[in-house]
Amino acid sequence: MAAAYDIVVIGAGVVGAACAHELTRAGLSVLVLDRGGVAGGTTGRGEGNVLVSDKLPGPELALALRSRALWCELAQEIGEAAEIEPKGGLVVAGDPATLHRLGELAGAQRAAGVTAQEISAGELSALEPRIARDLAGGVFYPQDMQVQPMLAAAQLLRLARAAGAQLRTGCEVSAIDHAQDRIRAVHTSQGTFATGQIVNAAGTWGGAVAALAGGELPVVPRRGFILVTESLADPVLHKVYAAGYVADVASGEQTLQTSTVIEGTRGGTVLIGSSRERVGFDQTLSWPALRAIAAEAIRVFPFLEQVRALRTYFGFRPYCPDHLPVIGLDPVVGGLIHACGHEGAGVGLAPVSGRLVAQLATGVAPELDLTPFAPGRFLETVVRA
Ligand SMILES: Cc1cc2nc3c(=O)[nH]c(=O)nc-3n(C[C@H](O)[C@H](O)[C@H](O)COP(=O)(O)OP(=O)(O)OC[C@H]3O[C@@H](n4cnc5c(N)ncnc54)[C@H](O)[C@@H]3O)c2cc1C
Repeated sequence: MAAAYDIVVIGAGVVGAACAHELTRAGLSVLVLDRGGVAGGTTGRGEGNVLVSDKLPGPELALALRSRALWCELAQEIGEAAEIEPKGGLVVAGDPATLHRLGELAGAQRAAGVTAQEISAGELSALEPRIARDLAGGVFYPQDMQVQPMLAAAQLLRLARAAGAQLRTGCEVSAIDHAQDRIRAVHTSQGTFATGQIVNAAGTWGGAVAALAGGELPVVPRRGFILVTESLADPVLHKVYAAGYVADVASGEQTLQTSTVIEGTRGGTVLIGSSRERVGFDQTLSWPALRAIAAEAIRVFPFLEQVRALRTYFGFRPYCPDHLPVIGLDPVVGGLIHACGHEGAGVGLAPVSGRLVAQLATGVAPELDLTPFAPGRFLETVVRA
């Protein structure tokens, strides 16, 4: 058997990277394993919005607010390298009824600690000069941020490795040795590694990793497409999205849903998302999804009609039936900690997930109530991808 580690992190996406960073900071010897490369899973297939604006008051919003604060701390160390930008989010409504509902949501979010400023129709263009002139108004969320997810994962792993963590890519975990319900080792394509603890940071594949230890987690893929435009000299300034996005995120519908999310990048390209549908790991290009995304983006930014889309890509969000991530100790196997199932918020929620995992791994009381995220909450649930 190869060297022993205090803890093995399965998954080198943004969540696994954040866990590795926090675990090394806590003084543990850490091995990170990924069957692909760094950020080769969903982390390399999404956008990098760090949002509080799309969260309803409740446990996920509390998690998001804490994670945003941790991203701000990380910005001191990796801000430039990970393209962390506290640019703010602008949520827009196309008609008065939607604006009214958006205003009600903003009021509830304010009561939960979110900064939300109502923006009249006439004021929208001061924030986004090229926005459609016939929108009903919106809400500006200055706390919303943006990061580049792949760079963020790489930078967090760089910090972890500088503090002693080891990383093995191209290393598939095929079995978990958990005799007498205690973790003893992981068996991989590169050998067996002794360890007393494991972090399941396998994202959309979190259910499959849980199954290696005899457990069950209903994490299933929720596919999403993104369109990428040519590089613009005058891109979109904030993260801008339509009010319907919040309802789409919260929906449990299996069929296609789209609501526009527009995000300028440092390179000048504009990322236009996003769609949501549960079609398993189907990799077929979906023209209906792409057409709907493009049409909705043009509704908010009419100038985009004249802009070329250079490419499209898609990823599989790690979806749980209640839209909450799984963060916590496995109810059966001692030493197994889950941090997966973050759906469309894994980038935003990565730092707080890492912090909570490190607290669990070192026996420190978690700084947030983990009951809503408990792995055991699904014991009665059955979900089909
Ligand atoms: C279109 C789209 C847009 C998105 N936009 C946003 C956004 O704006 N903001 C946001 O916060 N989130 C967004 N997301 C969601 C976000 O990308 C995910 O929640 C996040 O990347 C999940 O990270 P992760 O580290 O948990 O999983 P992953 O990045 O998928 O990492 C899991 C890793 O585990 C590895 N693995 C799995 N099984 C094994 C095994 N047996 N052995 C070894 N390795 C294994 C995989 O290879 C993979 O690299 C978006 C997603 C999509 C698809």
